[in-house]
Amino acid sequence: MFSKKIPETTIRRLSAYFRQLSFLEKNGIVSISSSGLSQRLGFTDAQIRRDFSYFGQFGQSGIGYPVSELKKVMAKILGLDNKIWNVALVGVGNLGSALLAYKGFKEQGFFIKVAFDINPRKIGRSFRDIKIESLKKIPSLVKQKNISIGIIAVPSEAAQEVANILSHSGIKGIINFAPVRINVPSRIIVRHVDLSMELENISYFLATKRK
Ligand code: NAD
Repeated sequence: MFSKKIPETTIRRLSAYFRQLSFLEKNGIVSISSSGLSQRLGFTDAQIRRDFSYFGQFGQSGIGYPVSELKKVMAKILGLDNKIWNVALVGVGNLGSALLAYKGFKEQGFFIKVAFDINPRKIGRSFRDIKIESLKKIPSLVKQKNISIGIIAVPSEAAQEVANILSHSGIKGIINFAPVRINVPSRIIVRHVDLSMELENISYFLATKRK
């Protein structure tokens, strides 16, 4: 689709661009300059211009980037254009329940179709219309509900076991919230999400500023 290979660091900024462009479009803004985006996102003007140069010829000097057009391109690269991704959540505790309650995922095309837990008191119940099933049902329900992405929200010691079950069930991507590295076959895309690391990062900058 694109002549140049897009660097990983640019890909990581895509979601931020996509979210900001969606916000601007919703608010009726038709074009935005790189400096306008820079103020909103905290990336430099030059960085933004370089990133956008990978996606084609966009923006005219003095007019800025066309918001809707650019958003469509970003959606395509992110695999969000007219696509729906079915998601399964494993571990319906504090974090898992919050994720099930969040309405924003659907707006982006991510549908949590089913949840799994090991606790017999939770199995069979529904949370926000999503049924909580036993781990035994992962392989059959992943296939039946056409689930592509699994979210792991179980304690660290259970994360690898859950990752194994998800991988054997045909899941294509995993988001792991447990603070341990999980090993899965290379065909599966894994993202580790760790809020503590982000907090440490802020702590570093705050501590450096104080000196
Ligand atoms: P919690 O104890 O409230 O919930 C864990 C849930 O997992 C429970 O419902 C439990 O029954 C279930 N569970 C346990 N073993 C299981 C297994 N083998 N299979 C399926 N379900 C199982 O914990 P929490 O506060 O929701 O945290 C969940 C995980 O997320 C932990 O690993 C925690 O460290 C992590 N966490 C990460 C972040 C982050 O920023 N990445 C933030 C908060 C929590």
